[in-house]
Amino acid sequence: MNDFSFGLTDEQRTIRETCERMLRPFEARRREFERAVREQGRIPEEFWSAMVEVGLLGAFIPEEYGGTAMGLTALATASDVMAAKGFGHPLYLLTGMDALCIARAGSEETKRKFLPAIAGGRAKLAFAITEAGAGTNSFRMTTRARREGDHWVIDGEKTFITAIDESDYVMLVARTRSRQELEEAGLPKTACLSVFVVDSRAPGVSLTPLPIRAIEGARQWTVHLDGVRVPAENLVGPEHAGGAVMFATLNPERVLVAAGACGQTQHLIEMSVGYARERVVFGTKPIGAYQAVQHPLADLRIRLEAARGLTYKAAAAYDGGIDPAETGAYANMAKYLAADLAVDAADRAIQTHGGSGFSEDVGVISYWERTRLMRTAPISREMILNYVGEHLLGLPRSY
Ligand SMILES: Cc1cc2nc3c(=O)[nH]c(=O)nc-3n(C[C@H](O)[C@H](O)[C@H](O)COP(=O)(O)OP(=O)(O)OC[C@H]3O[C@@H](n4cnc5c(N)ncnc54)[C@H](O)[C@@H]3O)c2cc1C
Repeated sequence: MNDFSFGLTDEQRTIRETCERMLRPFEARRREFERAVREQGRIPEEFWSAMVEVGLLGAFIPEEYGGTAMGLTALATASDVMAAKGFGHPLYLLTGMDALCIARAGSEETKRKFLPAIAGGRAKLAFAITEAGAGTNSFRMTTRARREGDHWVIDGEKTFITAIDESDYVMLVARTRSRQELEEAGLPKTACLSVFVVDSRAPGVSLTPLPIRAIEGARQWTVHLDGVRVPAENLVGPEHAGGAVMFATLNPERVLVAAGACGQTQHLIEMSVGYARERVVFGTKPIGAYQAVQHPLADLRIRLEAARGLTYKAAAAYDGGIDPAETGAYANMAKYLAADLAVDAADRAIQTHGGSGFSEDVGVISYWERTRLMRTAPISREMILNYVGEHLLGLPRSY
């Protein structure tokens, strides 16, 4: 597949080359890597070290804290390249987002405590906001943090938490005032949330695995918090201001998910084209000569160009510091377009591969769950359509 580079900055070209170089040793033993991820349910440590080596985990971290401060466009390029080569893992994305949150809102003490460790690969972070009783409406959460001397004490339950078993810490959003207290004080439901960095192995934290098949190498868990003591300096941003702290990282997360979806689409197109060129079942022409096989792949190639354009536009908007509302619109639309595209790419890749498409050895079938997830999480397509309807079209909100 032609790898066009019009519009890429010199920095993006460098990132792309660096990532390709970093991935080469893993590509050489791809099957072994994939088997390890599948069987052990986690990313090999040497892959994490390789990402640290090229500075990817420090992309949102200022240099004074050991980071590379490369920014969102650079990290999105890296996510795109890694996914296009068939690699990637949500824990690296989550750790990156959490680092951004600390770098933007953390106190000097919090930054010194966590950022150098993240950039140096010594701290992996999961993210926990979802609760069973709240779902999409995170503001219904009930997990509660109370101040006791120089500690916070947290009680509650989070669910669907990805890769917390592999993490050292989890960035967790909790209420610092109950819903009832808010109502009595006449405050909105968005008020009085706070963000904490919690030791994933602290006394009082227990995990129940969920029977979910979504991402190979990353499991989901329900996290029970029973009187978990968190040092005061692990509060990120001001007390009660967690809503704003959290929302500031959502746009970059959507851009990174969109970039990963673009990379996955490229990977799936390449696998499909490779197979369609070789597989012969009638006469002497390969199946790729049949337009019923060829056109769906050509359609993906066109849509990939559009999705990438919007994804990098959103990244540039964020890095350029333009109005967050405008950045949010691009980030949401990019995620919507890229997620739908990746789902179609997985479906068509399976179809192109015929019965082999269902073989784990071929490596296409796992993309069905992985890409389909992006229509639901980290934000569903319905919520993006709601956002566009309300904020871009000015239509009334229904919920
Ligand atoms: C594999 C996986 C990994 C995850 N990892 C994490 C993680 O690491 N950390 C974390 O905190 N969470 C995580 N999540 C949670 C994920 O973000 C939630 O599943 C998601 O926010 C939706 O919540 P819900 O599942 O309760 O769906 P619900 O809120 O019950 O929604 C059900 C359906 O109703 C639709 N809907 C709801 N409200 C509206 C509305 N107003 N308008 C239109 N449609 C609406 C939704 O779009 C959805 O289709 C993960 C989930 C999965 C499946």
